[in-house]
Amino acid sequence: MQHVYRAHYQTLMWKSSLISEPPEDADPVKYGWTKRNDKLFPVMLPENISPVPTEILQMIKCACSSMRACSTSRCSCASTQMSCSMFCGCHAGVDCNNVNTRSILSQEEKDELMTDDDLHNI
Ligand SMILES: [Zn+2]
Ligand SMILES: [Zn+2]
Repeated sequence: MQHVYRAHYQTLMWKSSLISEPPEDADPVKYGWTKRNDKLFPVMLPENISPVPTEILQMIKCACSSMRACSTSRCSCASTQMSCSMFCGCHAGVDCNNVNTRSILSQEEKDELMTDDDLHNI
């Protein structure tokens, strides 16, 4: 729903791109955006709402939690060449060794995963 709001807002902007004033009432905060420190961020799902039905989650998450989590094909995510997610036993965190998980993290997320030791080694 939030994405639909943002798509609608984008369409509003495109449709009015040839006129000098943006449409009145075109406040992005009313269309799926939130403002923090003068920057716009997309409105995310509330914490208590699951992005997918539980039945689907059970199909696509692994339960790996060992020291070398997700490093072998015993990991259901790795064996199907999917990345792990926050719903997995490993939470797709620093302990997850699924190569597919590592390849989709943004640089910002990779930076967050760095430990203090990593920073000393740079
Ligand atoms: Zn796994
Ligand atoms: Zn997984």
